[in-house]
Amino acid sequence: MGENLEILQSVQSQYKKAVEDLSLDQAVYEILKDPERLIEVSLPIKMDDGSTKVFKAFRSAHSSILGPSKGGVRFNENVNANEVKALSMMMTIKSALLSLPLGGGKGGLRVDPKSLSEREVESLARSYVRAMNNYLGSDIDVPAPDVNTNPKIMGYFVDEYIALNRGRLDLGTFTGKPICLGGSLARTEATGYGLALSVKYAYEKRGESLELKTFAIQGFGNVGYFAAKYLSEFGAKLVAVNTSDKTAESGSSAIYKASGFDVEDLQAIREKEGSVLKYDEAEKITNEEFFALDVDILLPCALENSIDEKIAPSIKARLIGEGANGPTTDKAVEILEDKGVLIIPDILANSGGVLVSYYEWVQNRTGEYLTFEEVQDKQREKMTRVLDEVFAIANDKKVNLRRASFMKALQRLSDGLKFRGRF
Ligand code: GLU
Repeated sequence: MGENLEILQSVQSQYKKAVEDLSLDQAVYEILKDPERLIEVSLPIKMDDGSTKVFKAFRSAHSSILGPSKGGVRFNENVNANEVKALSMMMTIKSALLSLPLGGGKGGLRVDPKSLSEREVESLARSYVRAMNNYLGSDIDVPAPDVNTNPKIMGYFVDEYIALNRGRLDLGTFTGKPICLGGSLARTEATGYGLALSVKYAYEKRGESLELKTFAIQGFGNVGYFAAKYLSEFGAKLVAVNTSDKTAESGSSAIYKASGFDVEDLQAIREKEGSVLKYDEAEKITNEEFFALDVDILLPCALENSIDEKIAPSIKARLIGEGANGPTTDKAVEILEDKGVLIIPDILANSGGVLVSYYEWVQNRTGEYLTFEEVQDKQREKMTRVLDEVFAIANDKKVNLRRASFMKALQRLSDGLKFRGRF
């Protein structure tokens, strides 16, 4: 029950603060402090060896005030109710911040997908949709990929959903789908691309360029890889990668190379060997050494709470771009901001994913599909506009970027609640 309570309380207190900052009606906080709906199910799965295992699964539909609840489904061994609640509350903020006609949701399955065969993963994915079917739909709640889920899993979701709903092809029920099943070009790249755009924006705002700035990435999944790829294209240099690999020797959880990595070399190693830590021509360093590296930019792109008050004092980076959701604890944020570190918060820095999910949803509705360049142009233009607005609020109100983002989002949510007659 107490699991992940800290992150939930932290998000709730950010909502509360924004309601106070904007002098909104207290009802706004009361309505938004908990999800509209939280589903918890147990899914029994026949394993390949003939045994039956039962997996816990969740879906939190936090808010549908501005549109259908929207957000990913993660497969991870620590998934719990408080985590999906907190993450769904962040999704509501992201959608509102981007002025999308969408709300916020998040789902999860408690499992280590690496311990399953492909058939077992498929079976779990299908049984997740069977359990949630009555509460999914392009106008109700729209899942997408998240940690350890991908277009392939969205393909199983789509197939099961169609089978359960009399063959009805409601493609906008899921986003992040394979392209041939109505997915959007540039969706897979979107979160990492948006993170790289946000970091570039922050440098340009200070009148500096990214050229030869060094960066370190924690997590080399979909977000980490694409952020690294685009930041390298923008001229910055990737010098360290930290990743979870249970098979790695203790004391070697990251790799460091002062002359810089070729991002595609790392991706090739990861695809071939299953982990970037198998890359030989780099120095192996510990988790603590990784965070204490003298780099310009640090991008946590793994899980929540990876930067806490123990790690924060050693961090030398001047800018942190949160690719993961909730990677920096409140105490760590305080320590870092006291040192003058600029944090581009998750709800802004990683919002490219849900933004392009929205473009996918729109394409599914209109039946007219955009090119890769068209999607990236739209994403860049929209994110730049939102970054302009958030930086301006932060500057005017003398608050950090997270608080400014919450203020912008909460104003819209409060207006939505008011016009719907909720207070
Ligand atoms: N899982 C992503 C996130 O945390 C994307 C959600 C979506 O596309 O709906 O923002």
